Amino acid sequence: MTDKIRLVCPDCETINQFQAARLSEKPVCAKCKKPLMQARPIAVTESGLARHLGNSGVPVLVDFWAPWCGPCVSFAPIYAEFAQSAEPRIRCLKVDTEAQQAAGARYGIRSIPTLMLFKGGKEVARLSGALPLPQLQQWVAQHLSA
Ligand SMILES: [Zn+2]
Repeated sequence: MTDKIRLVCPDCETINQFQAARLSEKPVCAKCKKPLMQARPIAVTESGLARHLGNSGVPVLVDFWAPWCGPCVSFAPIYAEFAQSAEPRIRCLKVDTEAQQAAGARYGIRSIPTLMLFKGGKEVARLSGALPLPQLQQWVAQHLSA
């Protein structure tokens, strides 16, 4: 495979470009040398989210949540576990809709938690409410194979 893909660094938000085949070789950021995939959900701001969506060679899953939301808080460990198994195939992000209200408005988030799945920067699926890990994996797989 000689296709180049882009990934945004979770730490310094530099846009990295590399051979797609290297994705499985734990690529690091050209600038800060941190791993580009960290097997955990990355907290982003509204602008960080837009940057990831516009420059991600892999699908992006986003958890819109808030600290005061009980179901969101109990979903967090499930999402963290999902990220461990899903990366580097899928970039997992989370957006605190209380701190980043503009992001919630921009993506039309009406209830939380809401999960949004993006491919090539475009929304392919959206789900409101928390769900157990097997169902989450199934939901993502179903929409990415379509
Ligand atoms: Zn970096």
